[in-house]
Amino acid sequence: MDKSKSKSLFTKAQNFIPGGVNSPVRAFKAVGGDPIFIKSAKGAYMYDEDGNKYIDLINSWGPMILGHGNGAIEAAVADALKRSLSFGAPTAKEIEIAELITHMVPSIEKVRMVNSGTEATMSAVRLARGYTGREKILKFEGCYHGHGDSFLIAAGSGAATMGTPNSPGVTQGTAKDTLTAPFNDLDAVKNIVEQNKDQIAALIVEPVAGNMGCVLPKEGYLQGLREICDQNGIVLIFDEVMTGFRLSKAGAQGIFNIKPDITTLGKIIGGGMPVGAYGGKKEIMDFVSPQGPVYQAGTLSGNPIAMAAGYAILSYLNDHDEVYEQIGASGQYLAKELAKVNTALGKDYTINQLGSMISVFFTNEQVYDFEGAKKCDTEMFGKYFQGMLNEGVYLPPAQFESWFLSTSLSAEDLDHIVKSHEKVLKNLV
Ligand code: PLP
Repeated sequence: MDKSKSKSLFTKAQNFIPGGVNSPVRAFKAVGGDPIFIKSAKGAYMYDEDGNKYIDLINSWGPMILGHGNGAIEAAVADALKRSLSFGAPTAKEIEIAELITHMVPSIEKVRMVNSGTEATMSAVRLARGYTGREKILKFEGCYHGHGDSFLIAAGSGAATMGTPNSPGVTQGTAKDTLTAPFNDLDAVKNIVEQNKDQIAALIVEPVAGNMGCVLPKEGYLQGLREICDQNGIVLIFDEVMTGFRLSKAGAQGIFNIKPDITTLGKIIGGGMPVGAYGGKKEIMDFVSPQGPVYQAGTLSGNPIAMAAGYAILSYLNDHDEVYEQIGASGQYLAKELAKVNTALGKDYTINQLGSMISVFFTNEQVYDFEGAKKCDTEMFGKYFQGMLNEGVYLPPAQFESWFLSTSLSAEDLDHIVKSHEKVLKNLV
């Protein structure tokens, strides 16, 4: 496979952009080799600058649940473009999208739009602190909530992949207010809450973690968190930036039937445009400025092009329940077929899957938390990744990430992924 154009672009990029990329995991550091530079994408496929075609299992890290080049989203954007790129003043579309979000995610009574998942989580935590008058937060090892200072403590995703789960530049003053516990361990949470009585403003969790690879909550875990928060006056924040509108119309909370106090959203909510949101109980959301005292603002928040794209994708998902049936079936099929291949090759690698999120962990042990994920053979994953890329399958370039499926994947695409998996693994064994 010729990747010479990507190679020379990467060489040039490093002169002007730190590490040659605008988000670390794109540099392929964890898997070796040079990143490929993408020129275009359509449906389930991406095309690089050298003309190679790949089945896309990243889908822009989640947003492109309907695949690339969706006609309804593109038409909505084209229509909005006719009226100006930005106003910095209220628009009717902002009410429409807010109303739709409150309809799709019933725990959200009011919602504020921002420009990224990071902004959503940072703002949600500030709000919880303002609302409770407390300073500490509790997060889980291996969960990633964006690159806000408070969250770069035992962080997952690219921070874990780069070996910097605790980033330099985060002051000790900030770090001391972030408590951490292992995922899926209710006793650990109870102990921490007990030791920090009346000091914890918020507990923030990915209800289905995707940033240490895909890790599901154990039965009763989310319910247990809800109860601990209720008993201790702690604001429960579900970070559904990844799972929102992906696992169901109402995200992971719709599947596990738990109502958080605040939900953070991103990725799919913008249909590929930079959008995030945080929303929840009216009583808490009314603490946000200008209604309340907790300040949060944004020059481009509620941007008309972004709102048009977001409204188009959300209304499509709201009207098409079959999307979740289809990608859920694709996820199940893939998990089953990949497991069959593993077994036939005598490799019992763990596969975690829920709906359209799936991870193949290069370990034989079950993965319930970050400690489990870290047992993976990441070197082996790197070789596997390169092998899959050469077969035309573009996976997230790190072990600690979830694959994201789109509705554009055909049965042939899924079978190509399985066949490639078999071929690549055979060469690695
Ligand atoms: N929260 C979760 C669960 C995420 O997966 C991410 C990004 O991957 C974020 C927050 C941060 O979102 P963004 O990258 O849009 O800032």
